[in-house]
Amino acid sequence: MDKTVIKYRHCGRDIYSFSRQNATYSCKNYDLERSHCPFCHQILTFGLLDAPVTLPCPFINGHKVACAFLIGSVHGPSYLGEWHDTEIHVGLSSSEGLVYNYTLSGIRKDDHGWEQCVCLQLVPPWRHDLRESWDRVLEEFSALPEWVSERFHEEREFGSCCYGFALTFINHMRSLDGKMSLSRDEFTGQHVLPTMKTVSIYMKIYHAISQHGFHVAEKCNNM
Ligand SMILES: [Zn+2]
Repeated sequence: MDKTVIKYRHCGRDIYSFSRQNATYSCKNYDLERSHCPFCHQILTFGLLDAPVTLPCPFINGHKVACAFLIGSVHGPSYLGEWHDTEIHVGLSSSEGLVYNYTLSGIRKDDHGWEQCVCLQLVPPWRHDLRESWDRVLEEFSALPEWVSERFHEEREFGSCCYGFALTFINHMRSLDGKMSLSRDEFTGQHVLPTMKTVSIYMKIYHAISQHGFHVAEKCNNM
């Protein structure tokens, strides 16, 4: 997933390909250098306001984002296209780039391994009070006896243990901020799934370009 995806418009369609700078095309018939539309085969002439736009990659380095909910997969980011509870592993980043996550061996504080994950920012940048207390409360919270390795299999309340740890912490922070708790369905439906839908669309486009050299969208899918 290391190539840049670009999008441009031609013959009424959104056309996606890898950026010419770093692309090695699996399909030799098409590249932007030769400048033919892969759909109508006309020569592409990019004028003013026609420049291809870069699609932002949804995978970012979780160690560089403070106070965030991180979604990763032990199998790599290409497994994040579909939402399967069993395939994902989630964690919470500290302001120092440590990722706290609940595993079979208890709470881990990873300083690497989350370089390509999906990231939900949890604390607004202007809430300095929340940011300042975050690391201390996260450290205290993760030392609670609830999160010892022996209890890993008991913590099935939220369907998966790592998710339960992260959401319980988020609800703990919300209660300190005078906010109501979120159920797993509320948190997933309102905050996680909209992001994962964007990820899924990006992955479909990426895989299609990998296979065919380009991807054509008949109608706008907001990416
Ligand atoms: Zn065309």
